[in-house]
Amino acid sequence: MNLILLGAPGAGKGTQASRIAPKYGIPHISTGDIFRQEMAKKSDLGSQVESYVKSGRLVPDHLATQVVVQRLGQPDCRHGFLLDGFPRTVAQAEVLDRFLTADNRPLTSVLFLKLEEAEVINRVSSRRQCERCGAVYNLVTQPPRHAELCDTCGGKLIQREDDKAETVKKRLLVYDDLTEPLIAYYHALGVLETVDAGRPVDEVFAAVVKVLDPLSRK
Ligand code: ADP
Ligand code: AMP
Repeated sequence: MNLILLGAPGAGKGTQASRIAPKYGIPHISTGDIFRQEMAKKSDLGSQVESYVKSGRLVPDHLATQVVVQRLGQPDCRHGFLLDGFPRTVAQAEVLDRFLTADNRPLTSVLFLKLEEAEVINRVSSRRQCERCGAVYNLVTQPPRHAELCDTCGGKLIQREDDKAETVKKRLLVYDDLTEPLIAYYHALGVLETVDAGRPVDEVFAAVVKVLDPLSRK
């Protein structure tokens, strides 16, 4: 199962990935999470990407692809992977294709989580994340049991800096310009599956499983 989750920022990729990955026993690779962890560690990579991530621009292709190619080379990815937030440009998709083809690891499916823009904005503006363990909540649709505290570890819930209104607008423009063309790209390759992401989390997951179960048996 070599999978990609495609969709606008806030469409629910991370939420679905946290269910898909354990069900199919594949690692969840979120480039956004990797960059945020590197920024928190203040590593070289973290300082190289910080200004891009905070302002809602894309990190340069060579840095994003380098991170992913390195991660896909690790042993736990040999039997499959779930990419979330990568690729985000056609150039990144082309590098990924070349890498996977050379390694004889074809893509199994690209799941496009389709959500209208107004709902994307609603979801992102009410997203909160645990500053300690990274768990994601939504003040409206997935509220924590105790206001502003993580159910799992008790950490403080914060709003991502790039989820503030001005930066969200910028990220959606970037998505329309650079990432949306990947829908046609993967459709042309015959691997695109579109899922209506405008439903409750369980229903979206059920639709995803309906697509993936037959593929997992091949
Ligand atoms: P992405 O990884 O695509 O940026 P997330 O998984 O972080 O998106 O989801 C964005 C926000 O929307 C989060 O606050 C999450 O709790 C919430 N969310 C995710 N899926 C749904 C859904 N199906 N219905 C309602 N809210 C959702
Ligand atoms: P995300 O958590 O997927 O919403 O990503 C947060 C931010 O990380 C994005 O707005 C970009 O700045 C950066 N980022 C994540 N993945 C990529 C990627 N594949 N290419 C370039 N930048 C990325």
